[in-house]
Parts: sequence; structure tokens; C-alpha cells
Amino acid sequence: MDFRFNDEQQLWYETLQNFMEKEVGREYTRAHDESREFPYEAYKKMADHGWLGLLIPEEYGGMAADAVMFAIFCESIAKFSLDTAACVMTGMFTATNICHHGTPEQKAQYLPGFLSGDVRFSISITEPDSGSDAASLKTRAVADGDEWVINGNKVFSSGAHLPGNVIALLARTGSDKHAGISLFLVPNDAPGVELRKMNTIVRRSFGTTEIFLTDVRIPSGNLIGEVGRGWDYIREHLEMERLSLAASYVGNARTALDDTIRYTKGRHQFGRPISKFQVLRHRMAEDEIVVEAARLLTYAAATKIARGERAVKEVSMAKVNAADVAFRVSFNGMQALGGYAQLPEYDMERYFREAKHAMVGGGTHEIQKGIIAKEMGL
Ligand SMILES: Cc1cc2nc3c(=O)[nH]c(=O)nc-3n(C[C@H](O)[C@H](O)[C@H](O)COP(=O)(O)OP(=O)(O)OC[C@H]3O[C@@H](n4cnc5c(N)ncnc54)[C@H](O)[C@@H]3O)c2cc1C
Repeated sequence: MDFRFNDEQQLWYETLQNFMEKEVGREYTRAHDESREFPYEAYKKMADHGWLGLLIPEEYGGMAADAVMFAIFCESIAKFSLDTAACVMTGMFTATNICHHGTPEQKAQYLPGFLSGDVRFSISITEPDSGSDAASLKTRAVADGDEWVINGNKVFSSGAHLPGNVIALLARTGSDKHAGISLFLVPNDAPGVELRKMNTIVRRSFGTTEIFLTDVRIPSGNLIGEVGRGWDYIREHLEMERLSLAASYVGNARTALDDTIRYTKGRHQFGRPISKFQVLRHRMAEDEIVVEAARLLTYAAATKIARGERAVKEVSMAKVNAADVAFRVSFNGMQALGGYAQLPEYDMERYFREAKHAMVGGGTHEIQKGIIAKEMGL
């Protein structure tokens, strides 16, 4: 075993660190969290580098990165902001759905615009009465000539309100719980679509919305793949999605700990740096252990996927663990920074909010543990 990045991975890691420090910066991500504005400039710069195509096959203009390279990307962006990482990662999964199951017309219509940063995708699965039990969704799509007519109510669709956004929306087309669900592309300005922003404590620059669909008509060509296969298509990218979240939480935890170390070394009380008080030293030492362990578990999962192996248990373990670590480290950071932790300019309260969401977003801890237990044969 070799626990180091190879030369290509190391270069990629350094390229991303440099990019985030010089081209984006911590002040920029903080300001966008505070103003709840989408980070258009950072997003466009990443598009110009071709990074939106990380998961897209080369034949469609993408980079076809493997899971390790993808995890490095997510960790590096989330070191600055989990929210910015979510802004960039979310649409990538719909783009891969289109690559794998879209018609030639859909590929031509959406992929170039997605790669250039002009077309964005949001994913809309969750409904008011179906969260963890996502497949019990009720939003209904009915065929009418060469159109689909959609009625229903979605919640928590991150980025659905943004200009040029197309919603990848799961809707019921049959009675079977899973095989009765199809995946549609719904432009957010289609007549009958009403969007209301939700005032969440995280995803403040990405933004998340409630969607009301009243007799929304879309062309039959906006169905992705086959009728009744939507649930399968969404499940196809769950491993990569959970990996991307685990890697992002590791990035968040690393920065929260680095900030805590820097602050405690510079803050003097009782005539010495507070980092010299044993209670704080030991807490930071313990946090160093868990951050490093979370990173190893995450890259072990990434390596397994990159080898082409099934990693359902590994990505769920990495996600749960990294979220817990991000929460613990930012919680300890909140204590170590005293009153200053509660000011946005110290960023810690943002890491703390984002880490709390990590226990819910992309499938809650309880759901992940159910998956792990099932994989263990329990
Ligand atoms: C900021 C934000 C952004 C989001 N972005 C998106 C998005 O872009 N697209 C999208 O489709 N969704 C999105 N979501 C929705 C998110 O995926 C759901 O919130 C999440 O899956 C949980 O669903 P719920 O909130 O309805 O909670 P519920 O399912 O009602 O769960 C409530 C509690 O019950 C527990 N619970 C439920 N079932 C079980 C069980 N079987 N065993 C044990 N415990 C259980 C849960 O773990 C949780 O603790 C977002 C949510 C937030 C907050």
C-alpha cells in the first residue's frame, strides 16, 4: 500500500489549492455566504478551466476524471466553502445522466452549455411528504400527445431558481414505488413553475427552493432515458455523490482545525498563547487524529471506486464519519475562538453550520447507517 498521491494527483491537488487561494479566496466565499448570492465569477472560472466536465466522458468534451481526482477536487473547493463545492458539484451528476441516458438531441442541447457554465442543473427529488423515503414522491407527470404535463410540489431543490437553470425532476409516471418514477428536464422558467427560496442556515450562496408545479407542459423530448427508470438513473450516481460529500466534509474539517490552530497560537490570555493550555492542545491533537483518519477513509473509498469496485458501504461510512468529524472539529473551534467564533469574519460559525447540515444532506446519518448495516448483512 502507498498512502501518497501519485505525481498527477499531487499536481492536481496543488493546482486546485493555488486556484482557490489566488482566484477565489476566503473573503469571496464568506461574502457570498453573507449576501446569499451565487458565486458566478468563481463558477465561470472553473468552467473556463474545463472543470465542470470532470465527470463527463472525453467524447462529450469532458475530463473523465476518476473518483480519486474527483475527491481531490471536492476536498479542495470545500476547504474554502462547502457551499461553493455544492454549487459546482450538484449539476455534474445530471450532466452524467444526460451523457449515459440522454438522446443525441439532449446531449447537443445541454452539454456544451453546461460545460461553458451557461446552463446549470438542479436536482429535485425531495417533496414535503417524502424526504428520506424519497421514492414515495407524489409529483405526477402524465403524457398528453407529444408533451408531459406535470403537477406537484417539491422542496429543497438547491439552485433551482438560478438563471439558465434546468431542473432534473423526479416525477411519478406509474404506480410502482420505484419503477413508477421517471426523470425529466424542466426549465425553471416553464409556464406553471413557481419557485420560492427557502431561508436555510446553509447553502446560502447556492440557495435552495420550494417548487410548485401547476399544469407544467414540457416536450416529450425532455424525458431522460426510458419511462419508469428515473429512480435507477438517480441511484447510478449515489456512490460518487456520497464520495463527493465525504471529501467536501474532510476539506471543511481541515480548514476548521487549521483556523483553530492559527487562532489559538496568536491569542494570548494569562500571559501566554492559549494553544499552550493543555486542555486546548489535547483537543486539537485529538481533532488532528480524526481529521487525518477521515481523510484516509474517504480516499480509501475513492480508490475502491477508481478500481471499478462496488463501494456502497465505504462511501456511506466515509460520509457519516467525515460529517461527524467536521461537526466535532468546528464545534471545538467554536469553543476555542471564544466570542470571536460568533462573528462571520472568523468563518468558524459558517463551518459549524455547514457541518451540521452534513448530517442531513445527501441522505441523513440514520439512512446511511441503515445502508451500512444492510451491507454488513444485518
Ligand atoms: C440545505 C438543503 C439542501 C438540499 N438540497 C436538496 C436538493 O438539491 N435536492 C433534493 O432533492 N433534496 C435536497 N435536500 C433535501 C434532503 O435530501 C432531505 O432534507 C433529507 O434527505 C432528509 O429528508 P427530510 O428533511 O424530509 O427528513 P425526514 O426524512 O423527515 O427525516 C427526519 C428524521 O427522521 C429520520 N428518519 C427518517 N426515516 C428513517 C428511518 N427509516 N430510520 C431511522 N431514521 C429515519 C431522519 O434520519 C431524520 O433524522 C436538501 C436539504 C437541505 C436542508
